[in-house]
Amino acid sequence: MNISILGSTGSIGTQTLDIVRDHSDEFKVTAITGNKNVALLERQAREFKPELVCVADVASARELKIKLNDTNIKVLGGKESLIEASSIQSADTVVTAVVGMTGIEPTISAIKSRKRVALANKETLVAAGNIIKECEAEYGKCIIPVDSEHSAIFQSMQGMADKREIKKIILTASGGPFYGKKREDLVNITPADALHNPNWDMGAKVTIDSSTLVNKGLEMIEAKWLFDIPMDKIEVVVHRQSVVHSAVEFVDNAVIAQLGMPDMRVPIQYALTYPNRMSIQRNELDLTEYASLTFEKPDTKTFYALELARKAGIEGGTLATVFNAADEAAVELFLKGELSYMGISEAIEYAMNEHNNIKNPTLSDIYDADKEAREAVYKRRK
Ligand code: MN
Repeated sequence: MNISILGSTGSIGTQTLDIVRDHSDEFKVTAITGNKNVALLERQAREFKPELVCVADVASARELKIKLNDTNIKVLGGKESLIEASSIQSADTVVTAVVGMTGIEPTISAIKSRKRVALANKETLVAAGNIIKECEAEYGKCIIPVDSEHSAIFQSMQGMADKREIKKIILTASGGPFYGKKREDLVNITPADALHNPNWDMGAKVTIDSSTLVNKGLEMIEAKWLFDIPMDKIEVVVHRQSVVHSAVEFVDNAVIAQLGMPDMRVPIQYALTYPNRMSIQRNELDLTEYASLTFEKPDTKTFYALELARKAGIEGGTLATVFNAADEAAVELFLKGELSYMGISEAIEYAMNEHNNIKNPTLSDIYDADKEAREAVYKRRK
């Protein structure tokens, strides 16, 4: 199988390359892309020998091109070059692990080029869900989720005869580092407090988002599009041990879940090998090591970003883009010490209230809404 990895230097990208390294007989890398991490891109290019390396930052692309002078690897620069990597003829699977809105158009071009899309980019479905679904309707269903919860839901649905048999989706949440805390306990939270996540090792933005439950909110909206399920059939359940990665309840009350140790390699690899499975030589789940697995309702009074996400998901349109963009801007300000921790959810609520929602948006409506929401958050701070 030939893989193109958009965002090969990030957490999902490097773990995808670990899988390729361990199964070099099964996988070959035909393209990788990054933003600015020239040193790592060079190392990856020399090890995996792709046809193409794309670097979003133009100056970094120039630098990499010189470094790879002695090879016959093609180097392209600029954000548009990601489209080349996602539609490259030799790839049959595209892993979209870039962070941010830049992931949307390469994902669309991968669908149009009839690739399998192992989707790890959140913005693609959160912001452009309507466009992606139209695209899949025309070119065929091709997205396999990489996010652990969505992979669990996808796995739990295998063998299902009819979508109408689903009663609800049970999306599990670790509860984050501030589980059990109330609003008044969170007033003085610093970036360092929020950057500590016991179960999953992720980037700074995702770690903050999982502490505010914004991440779970984004995942609810993603699930709505991915599984074509209304928001009121998506339930979030706090599950501290992160062993049950999510579940599906069917009309006969049978609940099917996927369990395992927290290990992103499982969902990434499944997205590549689906419907088959391949062995992984580590991290087996031993259920007897767990005295109990706990499940409870989330505290949406304290972590009310979850309710804001539900609202954005129900109303649809550009409101979900605003939810995501306002959060990104607010987290950036929080990490710089310019916004309080509870200010993150407040900023999202503010930007959503300011926004005139556009139903069934075009890509340009989506980019405008994204920009507008960020500006609303920056302006409000002053
Ligand atoms: Mn997740």
